[in-house]
Amino acid sequence: MKQVALVGLGTMGPGIAARLARGGLQVVATDRSGEAVERAKAALPIARTALDRLGVLAPEGGDAEIIFAPSLAECVEGADLVIENVPENAEIKASVYAEIDPLIGPDVIVATDTSGIPISKLQEHISKPGRFVGMHWSNPPHIIPMIEVIAGEKTAPETVSSVRELIRSLGLLPVVVKKDVPGFVENRVLYALLREVVDLVERGVIDPEDADTCVSWGIGYKIAVIGPMALLDMAGLDIYRSVSSFLNEDLCNRSDVAALVDEKTAQGRLGLKTGGGVYDYDPEEIPALQADRASKLIAIRRILEGGA
Ligand code: NAD
Repeated sequence: MKQVALVGLGTMGPGIAARLARGGLQVVATDRSGEAVERAKAALPIARTALDRLGVLAPEGGDAEIIFAPSLAECVEGADLVIENVPENAEIKASVYAEIDPLIGPDVIVATDTSGIPISKLQEHISKPGRFVGMHWSNPPHIIPMIEVIAGEKTAPETVSSVRELIRSLGLLPVVVKKDVPGFVENRVLYALLREVVDLVERGVIDPEDADTCVSWGIGYKIAVIGPMALLDMAGLDIYRSVSSFLNEDLCNRSDVAALVDEKTAQGRLGLKTGGGVYDYDPEEIPALQADRASKLIAIRRILEGGA
């Protein structure tokens, strides 16, 4: 694969564009919002600097070109792979597929970065559903190396292998999700964790700050080195069997949204983007907070990769 069409340049698009271009792939990107294109242009140098700090080398001659196309038709022209990154809304995504479907050849792979809409549902809007696949990046996409590759019911095995190989060739970490389960794997695990933590905070078992310390330093730090299945072996399956035999039935299993989340959302406390959510933020300090988080993620990744 040489040329990638990237449709949608919001939160995820610019980092993906920078990472692909660093891997030598020519990127032709588009967004229907001119403002989003301008923001993406401004975000690219920041993503490139993060890639430099991660030690991600470009092939000889430097990063491949990133071209901004004024239309969807010009974006997909000549592409080997289309990555769709428009909002998490099945109708918006379907309208993009309807527009590109007659413009692309039968061998072009169409990948969606959806966080949870079933691939089997989205691929109904493409005339060659075997060439349609999930390619779920994690945010920030230029820093997190793991990408889920999800097969829908009609996705051809060759499509899964092509995308997996592409990700590997970029030096990134593909994981194949073999069944199209809601939320795929990363978000299922994350949401199981979030459900439990929100429940514990809501029940007054722990304060938010202590919950964050407990999970980041007690679980997250360890799990970055020893994955959960390997952790079972480290702890001993007999220990897990014994603890889970009484603990599983006490874990939160609510199927609705916690009142804590409903109340904050109703108050407009949505998090960083509104200056407050679980915690309060001084809007002027948010860029420094984000830069500090990016620096730490970069430093940790370098250590885990043995490059620091
Ligand atoms: P976003 O809302 O920030 O950006 C979407 C962009 O798509 C916008 O700039 C919008 O103008 C553009 N767009 C809308 N319709 C379009 C069209 N017809 N043609 C071209 N551009 C169009 O969304 P995001 O957060 O970047 O998410 C994109 C996808 O990636 C979603 O499916 C989301 O679930 C998934 N995702 C997001 C994250 C995250 O943390 N934000 C992580 C992983 C995956």
